[in-house]
Amino acid sequence: MWRLSPTPVGEALALRGEMVDVQTETRWTALMEDLRRRLRNGQYQHWFAQLAPVEVTPQRVVLLVPNQFYRDWIATRYEGELKAASQAATGGEPVVELRIAPQRASAPSSAETDPVAAPRLNAEYTFENFVVGPSNRLAHAASLAVAEAPGVAYNPLFMHGPVGLGKTHLLQAICHALLAAYPSLRIVYLSSESFVNEFISALQHAALEGFRDRYRTADVLVLDDVQFFTRAEQTQEEFFHTFNTLYDGQKQVIVSSDRPPGEMQGLEERLISRFKWGLVARIDPPTLETRTAILRAKANIRGAQLPDDVVHYIATHIVTNIRELEGATIKVIGYAGLTNRPIDLALTAEALQDSLAAAGPVRIEDIQRAVVRRFGVRLSDLQSKRRTKSIAYPRQVCMYLARQLTGHSLEEIGGYFGGRDHTTVLYAAEKIQKQRETDPDVDRTLQDIEVNLKGRSNSTPVA
Ligand code: ADP
Ligand code: MG
Repeated sequence: MWRLSPTPVGEALALRGEMVDVQTETRWTALMEDLRRRLRNGQYQHWFAQLAPVEVTPQRVVLLVPNQFYRDWIATRYEGELKAASQAATGGEPVVELRIAPQRASAPSSAETDPVAAPRLNAEYTFENFVVGPSNRLAHAASLAVAEAPGVAYNPLFMHGPVGLGKTHLLQAICHALLAAYPSLRIVYLSSESFVNEFISALQHAALEGFRDRYRTADVLVLDDVQFFTRAEQTQEEFFHTFNTLYDGQKQVIVSSDRPPGEMQGLEERLISRFKWGLVARIDPPTLETRTAILRAKANIRGAQLPDDVVHYIATHIVTNIRELEGATIKVIGYAGLTNRPIDLALTAEALQDSLAAAGPVRIEDIQRAVVRRFGVRLSDLQSKRRTKSIAYPRQVCMYLARQLTGHSLEEIGGYFGGRDHTTVLYAAEKIQKQRETDPDVDRTLQDIEVNLKGRSNSTPVA
């Protein structure tokens, strides 16, 4: 299947960030999302996060890779995954071509592989593009402080939270800000899996000296997804010494992980205690309000304006993972472009039908069961005529969720709760909706129930 073409001289450059058109972007996003699911996070980040699309059609998928090494590596190890993802994203059986990106004249060639020479950053992951809300306020404030005074404010800075909530975005925002303020700063930015891989390769090639030099002379060390250290003892040892050297020199260390330091089984105690020296900041799933703001911001970046009801639809259906939220936004915008229709609720539901249906339909019985568990009431109470608050409230939550998550009509929903009429259901759904918008606790509770109901569909497991 492989066509390994050299770069034709003079061929137009498709540089990262300059997407060709909406259709390509839509398929490209789908392809990358698919790959991300097939691979472990570190593999994906290391080998695929750098790629850029030239062409993504059912006949041909042409991707730019940074250099020969990447091309060979991907071609030999990830052929199956890339092929499958290309087919899924385009709906065809495309020939997949890996093309080496021409070097920009001014960039030193080592910049492609050496994180010290020039960290490869996503241009969109800036502070400006980061929406702040209660769920990420502390992590954001700490990141800003570190960007303003590296090595002084919080050292190390340890950020943790589930996948897709903005850890990488914040890490890179710090790098962007630091590079803008101090262009000559030596910033080392990499995933901890790359650190492990490079360390192993240095061991094999007796190149430990060079490896140490590179990391221990950094001004700022940024290590993403440090949970990958948990199984690599020798690397931990190496990192421990790197950390001490940097810390003693008042160099900033920034680390992210999918869990707090104390919960990283397999990580040495002394490393855990180092991680706790500075500031440990948790990122939680975003509130409805934050999700809404992020959606608008992401649409804005793509030059699209989404109507309120569309924003609301997406923000209430995708609750746990911002990456998915963004993916849905791109999908809707792309779908509108493809079908040449205005973005409205019907189009949105249609565009997202597959992604949302992947979870399987939610049944009212499932909702009742989840609410019964959550609020400690009895099913027979929900179906009774009783109106005490302790029962009426869970019942209203049920009605709201049934309205959001199932296709049942108001009358049908009423039928599941002791034959209540449609105005009662409508009132309940609207009341809970309002509460959700104004009270983060209510939003959190609803989110918990929704996540349970939808299983894992809205969150991509790490590794
Ligand atoms: P993580 O590293 O925690 O898995 P990422 O940093 O990769 O998550 O974020 C996933 C996506 O969500 C990225 O595209 C990022 O830009 C976006 N994102 C996350 N949080 C925010 C936010 N607060 N504002 C804007 N975009 C966000
Ligand atoms: Mg990340």
